Amino acid sequence: MKNNEALRCLLCKKPKCSLQGCPVHTPVPECMALYRADKLDEAGAILFQNNPLSAITSQVCDWRQFCYGNCVLNVKKIPVRWYEIEQEISDRYLFQHRLVRVSDELKGRRIALVGTGPVGLASAVWLYQAGAEITLYDANLRLGGVLRYGIPGFRLNKKYVDVYESMFFLAGMLFRGGVKVGRDISLAELSASYDAVLVGAGAEKPATLNIPGEERSVQALPFLKDPSAFKMGPKVIVIGGGNVAMDACRMARSLGYETWVYYRKTFENMPANPGEVEAAQYEGVRFKLFQAPVELKEDGVVFRDCVNDMDADGKIVTRILDDTDHFVPCDTLITAISERPDYDMLKGLPVKMDASGKPVWNEGQKLEGLPNVWVAGDFCLGATTVVEAVASARVAVENIKQTL
Ligand SMILES: Cc1cc2nc3c(=O)[nH]c(=O)nc-3n(C[C@H](O)[C@H](O)[C@H](O)COP(=O)(O)OP(=O)(O)OC[C@H]3O[C@@H](n4cnc5c(N)ncnc54)[C@H](O)[C@@H]3O)c2cc1C
Repeated sequence: MKNNEALRCLLCKKPKCSLQGCPVHTPVPECMALYRADKLDEAGAILFQNNPLSAITSQVCDWRQFCYGNCVLNVKKIPVRWYEIEQEISDRYLFQHRLVRVSDELKGRRIALVGTGPVGLASAVWLYQAGAEITLYDANLRLGGVLRYGIPGFRLNKKYVDVYESMFFLAGMLFRGGVKVGRDISLAELSASYDAVLVGAGAEKPATLNIPGEERSVQALPFLKDPSAFKMGPKVIVIGGGNVAMDACRMARSLGYETWVYYRKTFENMPANPGEVEAAQYEGVRFKLFQAPVELKEDGVVFRDCVNDMDADGKIVTRILDDTDHFVPCDTLITAISERPDYDMLKGLPVKMDASGKPVWNEGQKLEGLPNVWVAGDFCLGATTVVEAVASARVAVENIKQTL
């Protein structure tokens, strides 16, 4: 046992870190006990089976919100840093793991996975283990979704994504990269050719600011995917306060740009992980709060001041103040306000839609209207987190197993 932090764990009988704090209910006490007994391979196998992405989630999860924040020792302000131990165990296991069939529950079943982000990766592991023949489809040329093309390398080393590519190749799975479902092949064709289709196509459609001149701005996701594709000037302003905005500003800063974040509310209202905001500040990103953009010009942005008001229910409402327009010069504006799923691939199919234009699925996440198509992750939850995408993939996979 390398990390003495493990000795502080109380091995709770009803572990809040796992039962309440973790979307995939990682069995923390069981694995902690194995770690203390130097049984790292056994602990690794349990973690991988429960969450095939544990080596990644232990690095990118906002542990303050999940395991660490729910540790009983939090009362004394000294929670156990389980995520450090989870990473040590999972790292060692992942890089020496080779997939094997565990059951023949789905033997002979052909399953297509659309999207190879956390949903596709985790589902491929579980479905392969259950005996299925897997084909993965992705609009990108390589596996990984946001893990490869969104989260910057300074936060997640890409070896953690590459390892699944070699693991899946050795297992004989097929990968159809550069194939966009709905454009290059229809979902109806996949549904007809496979026993089951699981769509984990993420949430990549950017929300818009709806301000004049917006077409001059750069979208955060394409920028993060390939920063070298954008010609930018020395001063960059990023609009937004979520994780995507933090990654975009840190990326711009790491490339040497003078980088500012302009946000409508205050630091406490930012949806980004506090650790990311702190890292951005430490790296030299500067923040300007209570600012809403109203027009994008060739050489800068017109902002208006905002204030936080409280409504009758005690809810904070941000109000934009009239007559406060001021011009801020900048060379490039990056927008990172929010992303949502793109349901284009469902157009023309007999999928049941609700009043808001969202597809309807049952509790096992099977789409209503198609016989064998399931959905999971950001595609059905909206932009969430890696661990929540894995948890959602598990619901769909379990339902596929019960149905086929
Ligand atoms: C910049 C950024 C930083 C983030 N940081 C964190 C973090 O630190 N911690 C955290 O927990 N979460 C973070 N998240 C959120 C997290 O990454 C997502 O919740 C998670 O990746 C969702 O997984 P998914 O499998 O549903 O979708 P994705 O990872 O988005 O994968 C979807 C895949 O589907 C493919 N696809 C889309 N449409 C089609 C189509 N029509 N045909 C074929 N393929 C298609 C895409 O190319 C993509 O590969 C971040 C998100 C972003 C964008």
